Amino acid sequence: MQAFANVILPLHLDQLFTYQIAEEDIAILKVGMRVAVPFGKSKVYTGVVAKIHHEAPQHYEAKLIEEILDERAIVTKQQLKFWSWIASYYMCAEGEVMKAALPSAFLLESETVVELNKKGEFDEEELTDEEFLIVEALQNQSLLKIHEVMQILEKKTVLPVLNSLVAKNAIIVNQELYKQYKPKLIKYIRLTSAFSGEQKLHELLEELSNAPKQREIILQLFSLQAKLKKPIEKKQLIKESGASASSIKSLIDKAVLEEYTLQKDRVNFEGEVNDIQLHFNEEQQQAYSEIKNHFQNNQVTLLHGVTSSGKTEVYIKLIEEVIAKGKQVLYLLPEIALTTQLISRLQAYFGQEVLVYHSKYSVNERVEVYKHVLHHTKGKIVIGARSSIFLPFQELGLIIIDESHEATFKQYDPAPRYQARDTAVVLANFFKSKLLLGSATPSLESYHNTEVHKYELVKLTKRFGNVLPPKIELVDIKEKHKKRKMTGHFSDRLLEEMKETLAEGKQVILFQNRRGFSPILECNTCGHSPQCPNCDVSLTYHQHNNSLRCHYCGYHMAMQQQCIACGSNDITTKGFGTEQVETELEALFPDHKIGRMDLDTTRGKYGYEKIITAFEQQQIDILVGTQMLTKGLDFRNVDLVGVMNADSLLNFPDFRAHERSFQLLLQVAGRAGRTKERGKVLIQTYNPYHQILQQVSSNNYEAMYKEQMDDRYNFKYPPYYRLIKLTLKGRDYNMVNEASSWLAKALAQAFHDHVLGPEFPPVARIRNEYYKNIIIKIPPKNSLQKTKDYLQKVLKSYQSIANYRKIRVIINVDPY
Ligand code: ADP
Ligand code: ZN
Ligand code: ZN
Repeated sequence: MQAFANVILPLHLDQLFTYQIAEEDIAILKVGMRVAVPFGKSKVYTGVVAKIHHEAPQHYEAKLIEEILDERAIVTKQQLKFWSWIASYYMCAEGEVMKAALPSAFLLESETVVELNKKGEFDEEELTDEEFLIVEALQNQSLLKIHEVMQILEKKTVLPVLNSLVAKNAIIVNQELYKQYKPKLIKYIRLTSAFSGEQKLHELLEELSNAPKQREIILQLFSLQAKLKKPIEKKQLIKESGASASSIKSLIDKAVLEEYTLQKDRVNFEGEVNDIQLHFNEEQQQAYSEIKNHFQNNQVTLLHGVTSSGKTEVYIKLIEEVIAKGKQVLYLLPEIALTTQLISRLQAYFGQEVLVYHSKYSVNERVEVYKHVLHHTKGKIVIGARSSIFLPFQELGLIIIDESHEATFKQYDPAPRYQARDTAVVLANFFKSKLLLGSATPSLESYHNTEVHKYELVKLTKRFGNVLPPKIELVDIKEKHKKRKMTGHFSDRLLEEMKETLAEGKQVILFQNRRGFSPILECNTCGHSPQCPNCDVSLTYHQHNNSLRCHYCGYHMAMQQQCIACGSNDITTKGFGTEQVETELEALFPDHKIGRMDLDTTRGKYGYEKIITAFEQQQIDILVGTQMLTKGLDFRNVDLVGVMNADSLLNFPDFRAHERSFQLLLQVAGRAGRTKERGKVLIQTYNPYHQILQQVSSNNYEAMYKEQMDDRYNFKYPPYYRLIKLTLKGRDYNMVNEASSWLAKALAQAFHDHVLGPEFPPVARIRNEYYKNIIIKIPPKNSLQKTKDYLQKVLKSYQSIANYRKIRVIINVDPY
């Protein structure tokens, strides 16, 4: 009997394609294996077999599968089920889900580029003749495209050969390099504990009276410590005392001084596992028992714990138990680039059990992690960003979603436009595994789910070690401006506190949200500001290279000295970004080291890590940054956090603006005073009576929740109503208008006034394409599925209008 396979192709197609299985392959081919199949006129793709059956397709002649690429399935049945759930819920193609789900090295296609794996160790003897030809060619030419490989081998089906070479570690494909960041270790010097205390010190100085060089070193060390109030670098000590490295060494040999690095157990994991015993405080113990209790009956629990309450330790204990039973754990984080800190904390605890899965890792590393998870060979704990929900888990026992309120759990582009937090609930369901959401500022959705008893709720209300929550003070800058108490963008209050904090040898974080608030150029004579020729936005002024830039498309031009429109010389910059704060700081605090953390300074390799490490090592006294600063960083020595201007956050045109502002401000505030002393937070604003700022300063999540939920109810927004957003996009302005009007009308026939728009977004043109949005609001009593079915029907008719086909429609389910 003939046999057929439905194959998922990495393309935006409405259906799976059916291929015929060659006679001799029938016994070998299994669901979940990869196959090379012809598609279109001459293309060959790698696809995954979703189903094997005996029904020939009705409308076309099934082509033959060219080659089977795996010896056993690399995609599990659970994954296939999961993919089709995502495709159906988020209204995209299964092929698009597959592309997001598999490391790209698994999906060789016509555009793939291969190169020699320089780090790979392989035995040339083990290569087949064809494989050898490729390796040889790569020794002369660093890169090969698929069609070149075809020429070399004089045949079309080359994917099996390449796959085998990847498996043998001989080549790598589409490599993006990303090595683990190794911070530079800075050496510090301190007195050993044997000589602490005044009495001992006197004795020591006495003793050293006939070794004046060594005595001088000790004295210098003391004066530096008194002056700087922070760890003393060896380099600096040598410089200030004029001592030689050898006299310092002899003091180290005498066990008077010791050398140490701050980095040691924080970022660098050398393989040894610390034998740390966790001792919960009472509240942690209570929370932990409650979570365990809830897990008996309910799968999902929300841990609402203030910043620095020790949530991570609770996670660690739960993880420990799950892996002891041989099960796997998924630990999801909003952005892994920022979480070197957490990775090292978990590695210090679990050592080799920790795997990190992240798009910034090289393709081959991702393949390795994928295979370890699939075969359960190494590492039971996966730390990863949102895409790690796609790993081929076998026995998933627990999913932890840390900082679960973060917006980056949602993927905006490309499809699948999934919300990893919600999707993880479905994943947990497949495995009957438990799910713990953690946050100091839960999303309204998650909190609402606890109120309607879909999720359980557990709280941690105190900071660990009884550290008091930071004291939050609102500074009215309208008033300060009036009274001339502002220096640039700094109020006298903020400067006062900064000086005090720095004098104590403590660090300061300043937060300036740049979103929608970047410095732009404006002519005081005619009001013109230079615009991007490709997008509908003003260009942003960048001081460091004296240029004007578009943040959407990268267009840039030199800074203008005269107005382009009227020629006037009277031009000013409006608004301010992190860069300007930095410049002002340099003038205000010339003796302190200032760092900046934003998209511009973290772009390079290890950008984040370098700045974070420098700040941890106290190489930086004042750190200025954007949102990035908020994400779960744990700095020991920060006593003051300043928010330069809270208003731009609050005024953002989005129904979530207030919720987000609350979350962001409390998260930034949480960076202050995480150890003994009580931290301080100063929020500068023109609007100190804004209810959100009041709720932030009193740390009143419940009040914020109640008020925001009322708004959501009144204005018909989530979590009460669901939303589907349609974005039409095209080069022809008139056609975008026409098509979107047509679509909105067609939808309104069924959904009436629950269709909003079409409306241009705030930036209506990007890279010369016009955008228009339509939003469908779905009342709680309506079926989501029926709404989607109707939408599909309308989109079919839309596609049948020839003129509209050029205008793409992007569907986004639960868009915010
Ligand atoms: P959160 O994740 O809630 O922000 P953390 O887990 O980072 O809080 O904990 C804050 C600080 O308290 C960390 O430095 C952590 O090491 C410490 N800590 C928390 N719980 C314990 C514990 N049981 N024993 C020792 N230190 C703890
Ligand atoms: Zn002008
Ligand atoms: Zn642009």
